Amino acid sequence: MEFETVIGLEVHAQLLTDTKIFCGCSTKFGGAPNSHTCPVCLGLPGVLPVLNKKVVEFAMKMSLATNCVINKSCSFARKNYFYPDLPKGYQISQFAYPLSEHGYIFLDVDGAQKKIGLTRIHMEEDAGKLMHDEHNPVSYVDLNRAGVPLIEIVSEPDMRSPSEAADYLKRLHEILVYLEICDGNMEEGSFRCDANVSIRPMGQKEYGTRAELKNMNSFRNVQRALEYEIKRQQYLVECGGKVVQETRLWDDASGVSISMRSKEEAHDYRYFPDPDLVPILVDDAWVEKIRRELPELPLAKRERFIKDYQIPEYDAGVLTADKALSQYYEEVVKLCGKPKQASNWVMGDVLRFLNEDKRDIRKCPITAVALADMISLIEAGKISGKMAKDIIPDMYKTGLSPQKIIEEKGLVQITDEGELIKTLTAIIESNPGQVADYRGGKEKLFGFFVGQAMKATQGKANPQLVNDLLKKMLAG
Ligand SMILES: [Zn+2]
Repeated sequence: MEFETVIGLEVHAQLLTDTKIFCGCSTKFGGAPNSHTCPVCLGLPGVLPVLNKKVVEFAMKMSLATNCVINKSCSFARKNYFYPDLPKGYQISQFAYPLSEHGYIFLDVDGAQKKIGLTRIHMEEDAGKLMHDEHNPVSYVDLNRAGVPLIEIVSEPDMRSPSEAADYLKRLHEILVYLEICDGNMEEGSFRCDANVSIRPMGQKEYGTRAELKNMNSFRNVQRALEYEIKRQQYLVECGGKVVQETRLWDDASGVSISMRSKEEAHDYRYFPDPDLVPILVDDAWVEKIRRELPELPLAKRERFIKDYQIPEYDAGVLTADKALSQYYEEVVKLCGKPKQASNWVMGDVLRFLNEDKRDIRKCPITAVALADMISLIEAGKISGKMAKDIIPDMYKTGLSPQKIIEEKGLVQITDEGELIKTLTAIIESNPGQVADYRGGKEKLFGFFVGQAMKATQGKANPQLVNDLLKKMLAG
């Protein structure tokens, strides 16, 4: 039987506000356990939450960037459940009245644009963190994360393959980072994703029973976990079994998912409006103010790069996938005025060095100024492309300017005609046989003379000048 896969994703993104959503505690990652807490985020009796306006504005930015309609009025609800990392016994979230709804983004699927719907974006608070002691039968609770603001971005079940799901996540991640409202760090959990997966026979309209997958902390893991889950469900159905509604935990090390619990329904949480928080009213003026603050988004930047810099779509895609990289590239272009050359060097050598070191472009030892200088030196004929290839690893290792490295290595290209003529004359005189053959019609021998000239000058001769001079001199 042929099956179709149906995937919907729920993304939780931690917002980069300085303070928590309902109190003034710091949101900084990595403090001593429970050092960023107060009576509000500890859930002590008698306290009242006060909403952080920045959280609403950040959530509005993401809503506008993903074409959501921002509701004129929205409100918070209590999601009730018991767990030791949730001191109040409920999480303040949004339920019936979310901040925004009905958004969409586009994905490139097989060369065509595919629209993926966003059901809603809502605000909520994060829970604390449990740490389990390997050697003692105890667990510790760290509430530094309790009350850190999150947005949950819920997609429609519009994705049909693990690779579409991974693409969708990358697009969302890109937008959040471009907006500077989330650092996107998946390992530290500031960008997390749960997936709802089901299969159905090809052509069937109704959705199959879905399983929810959790604990996938990289794009690669999301794809692997989804592939595994789809195979598991197909196998189950083909063997006459049934998919049950449940939450499954992905285990990266063993490459399998494990059933965690039967999936709860929304009504299990006994949602009700939070009586401590008034509804949030959003008027048009506020929306417009936020809209004006939006930076250029990845898609728009990609199109601008293609148009303004005349670089291929592929280059523009790579260069804009990371905001910092796109800024680095633009800086290089601004300084050297050579967009395609800049793109080749950034995407080639620079990205290769960075990938090998797993280093971020922000920590690249080759500054935009140094790279632009190097490109300008090639353009001015001071060094050849080949010489540049030789010095760029040193630029990366030492962080020195290309001029400095050229000087230290004595690498300046020979562009002095008189000096080159002397070298070429010597080569011609010591190879009379080849000269005669060349003049007799064996034009392929031209390369031999170029090779000799480069060897004699240790690769420092300006290749164009060598070509021009040799042509004249060999013509006899
Ligand atoms: Zn607090």
